[in-house]
Amino acid sequence: MEFIVAWVLPIPLEAHLVFERIGKKWQCPWCKSEQVTGKRAKRVQTSTWVELAVRKSEPRWVCEGCAIEVLYACNAEDFENSEDYNKVKRIARQEGLELSRFRCQCIEQQLEVIASQSLADRGPLDERRAFAAIRAWLQRVLVQLDDRKLRDGS
Ligand SMILES: [Zn+2]
Repeated sequence: MEFIVAWVLPIPLEAHLVFERIGKKWQCPWCKSEQVTGKRAKRVQTSTWVELAVRKSEPRWVCEGCAIEVLYACNAEDFENSEDYNKVKRIARQEGLELSRFRCQCIEQQLEVIASQSLADRGPLDERRAFAAIRAWLQRVLVQLDDRKLRDGS
């Protein structure tokens, strides 16, 4: 089976570890549904969280579900027509970023993760190829975003 990568997350942490890290209860700022509530809560065992650079302030932890939806949409060539376009637009506004800037930062962080973890350079060959392919893809989307900014004069 072919190994395909459609988004690249930073290393996820379980909720109780996020709780330890930030020292307080926390709610996913994007869906307001997933929660980090301390060790004893049952919910704690089920959710995983990632730290995203596009969050305007600490804590930068969002639930993995939101992170995947947002990154998957941002990576799409046909972003404007993607299913989660409106959700991403709302979140970008919430984070105080222009939509194209928000998208750039999401893509840049994924490229950083690939580079810092050498994902395209080690591990099984099919995984390396898959990460090299998404790296090339993300770089191309970034170039298109830059071109568009130049065209729009923004
Ligand atoms: Zn969420």
